[in-house]
Amino acid sequence: MAKILIISCTKIRDVSCIACLKCFKAAELKEGEFAKYDSVQIVGLSGCGDCPGLVMPKVGLVMEMADYLLQEIDAIHIGTCVVRARNTAACPIDIDGIKAKLEGKFGKPVVIGTHNY
Ligand code: SF4
Ligand code: SF4
Repeated sequence: MAKILIISCTKIRDVSCIACLKCFKAAELKEGEFAKYDSVQIVGLSGCGDCPGLVMPKVGLVMEMADYLLQEIDAIHIGTCVVRARNTAACPIDIDGIKAKLEGKFGKPVVIGTHNY
């Protein structure tokens, strides 16, 4: 069971991508970027820290809380919402760069994307 933290676009989540139904469905059905896991449990779904993309301090807070709660996190997924914000709007996040920074600081694999709906 892979325990997954998703980082979402604060501007999109529950505004134009409603209730995060898409990522929960993809995780349940092991579709999209979740297809490679035996089974998936979303243990956290956090925003990016809002524009201009305060991902590192936000994930730092998430990791502190996860430690406090003794909640394991096996991998971090950068939500499809963030990828779309970057590719279709003015999102300033360097996705490859933030993936490298997250992996370096927190020692977790980082996957770019979640669902493909
Ligand atoms: S892509 Fe996933 S995390 Fe992002 S807003 Fe949509 S359902 Fe939520
Ligand atoms: S920095 Fe990018 S991912 Fe975060 S809220 Fe702004 S547009 Fe969305």
